[in-house]
Amino acid sequence: MTSQTPLRIGVLDGDDIGHEIVPAAVQIARAAAEMHAVQIDWHPLPIGARALQTHGHTLPPDTLTALQTLDGWLLGPIGHRAYPKVPNAINPHPILRKQFNLFANVRPTRSYPDIGCLHDGVDLVIVRENNEGFQPDRNMVAGSGEFRPTDEVTLSVRVITRTGSRRVARAAFELARQRRKHLTYVHKDTVFKLGCGMFVEECRKLAAEYPDVRVDDVIVDTFAMRLVRDPQTFDVVVTTNMFGDILSDEAAGLVGGLGMAPGLCIGDGDVAMAQATHGSAPDIAGQGVANPYAMIESTRMMFEWLGHSRGNEGAVRMGTSMARATAAALADPQARTGDIRGSGNTGSFTRAVIDNLSP
Ligand code: ATP
Repeated sequence: MTSQTPLRIGVLDGDDIGHEIVPAAVQIARAAAEMHAVQIDWHPLPIGARALQTHGHTLPPDTLTALQTLDGWLLGPIGHRAYPKVPNAINPHPILRKQFNLFANVRPTRSYPDIGCLHDGVDLVIVRENNEGFQPDRNMVAGSGEFRPTDEVTLSVRVITRTGSRRVARAAFELARQRRKHLTYVHKDTVFKLGCGMFVEECRKLAAEYPDVRVDDVIVDTFAMRLVRDPQTFDVVVTTNMFGDILSDEAAGLVGGLGMAPGLCIGDGDVAMAQATHGSAPDIAGQGVANPYAMIESTRMMFEWLGHSRGNEGAVRMGTSMARATAAALADPQARTGDIRGSGNTGSFTRAVIDNLSP
């Protein structure tokens, strides 16, 4: 593929603040793409509560079919907890991650000056296994991984596979190799001797293929403490689904909160899904005050990843230029949003990023 082949990108707003932060990210990406002569075919697709109204389903079958033809897409936050209890009002997350085999959820944490970070110099990435583990809505082929045989007893099944562990570990090793070459496996094999034991075994086996990457392993409770005290000592971290879910929110708390927590879901190399870590924030939806950083950065990561995977140099340059512009916008207290010590809003931050884009 040459840099002239248009990238086919889906736009799925999601719910609540998704209708504000996804258009913001698209606006910036359009401006950056124009500057770097990257051709993009944009495909807006219905999903979420609005799709339930217009198409009778929160994940319309036509949306799923269209996604199969794309290089990647932006997925806004989904407010599924507020969906009505009707059969077609499902949470699209597990289906999308499973159907497209998006087994690695790459969640960076980075500190910026003056925005209320608890530490300076934080630059780490948690790679969270995305498709198995404790999550009962995605760890079974049929039925739920959680069940209640009697009113007194509830069982939650945690699924760990060698394949699942190995492939997320490989994604983390590859990332570590591009960064500071340090990978930490986070687990609790002291208690989950078989489950976490298998996960760590697979990580250790793979380490032989990456002699240039320094590895260590940390028990999850110790990691939670060290993340608060010494986050600068970590580079890439790989862990199972539920631990990764919790620890990435903790990491976001170190650097200004959920508005600063981007993410990219990737798999074996075909498609990438840009998805911020945070939820749909119904409490602030419709006010124009949501922090779009996480969605913008997730989108930037997607273009950078697509640039590398498709040999599209323009998309890589586009990502670099978006990163510089976002850092500049974060440094402007009048542009940035209230959650990160600014007096601006979604619109002012978006404009500031666009104004700071440079070739
Ligand atoms: P979920 O379980 O779906 O991840 P949640 O219960 O963690 O959702 P969120 O919707 O993520 O909840 O919101 C948690 C808090 O963080 C809310 O007070 C919300 O306003 C705030 N928040 C989340 N995202 C943003 C954002 N982008 N900008 C500003 N505040 C945000």
